[in-house]
Amino acid sequence: MSIPENIEKIKSQLTDSVTLCAISKTRTVNEIREAMHAGLFDFGENKVQEMVEKQAQLPCTIRWHQVGTLQRNKVKYIAPFVHLIHSVDSWKLLQEIDKEGQKNERVIPVLLQVHIALEETKHGLSREELFEILTHPDLPQLNHIQIKGLMGMATNSDDEDLVLREFKGLKMLFDELQDQFKPNNQIRFETLSMGMSGDFSLAVEAGSNLVRVGSAIFGERNYSN
Ligand SMILES: *Cc1c(COP(=O)(O)O)cnc(C)c1O
Repeated sequence: MSIPENIEKIKSQLTDSVTLCAISKTRTVNEIREAMHAGLFDFGENKVQEMVEKQAQLPCTIRWHQVGTLQRNKVKYIAPFVHLIHSVDSWKLLQEIDKEGQKNERVIPVLLQVHIALEETKHGLSREELFEILTHPDLPQLNHIQIKGLMGMATNSDDEDLVLREFKGLKMLFDELQDQFKPNNQIRFETLSMGMSGDFSLAVEAGSNLVRVGSAIFGERNYSN
């Protein structure tokens, strides 16, 4: 199937309240243009350099999402334009994003990435680490970031019950935080980013409002080219 057909099929499974973010890592700018013509505006990359190169070649109407592990020394390259950073997993990274936001005279929206999978290799904060950030005494001074919500990746497994349970656990945490932290300048729980090509239906069932879909749109990734 073509990129527009894939997008059409995925969109038919989503309501209007769920944002479809196309994960375009390893894809060409022409493939991204095709997806744009099919009506997508949100694109996600996991490598800073790749995002910067593509951003320079594509219309500024694209909203760029950073989804992979982000090194502190690379924040400066995406700070001028990034729409949402999904992968904040430490206080130090948050401080660095704030610093670069200040330099660029903008507020950078971020999500806190929570560890929900069984695999230890997947990144993300524990519940304790999450609360440490949200109640950090210096958080009110970070005027150039805004925490918009949470992101999580479920275990890569065929066990749908397990995956659904992990997503539902994150949704419960999200609801709890939404209750506990009333919207202010630094914290505004609106976005719950969960679900990829293999599990976005389960994620949406559990309450996701942003899915990050790569191969189901563009086809299988080939890292060798
Ligand atoms: C690559 C990636 C995706 C998309 O994966 P697919 O299985 O191709 O949909 C989603 N989220 C993150 C963090 C990724 O790195």
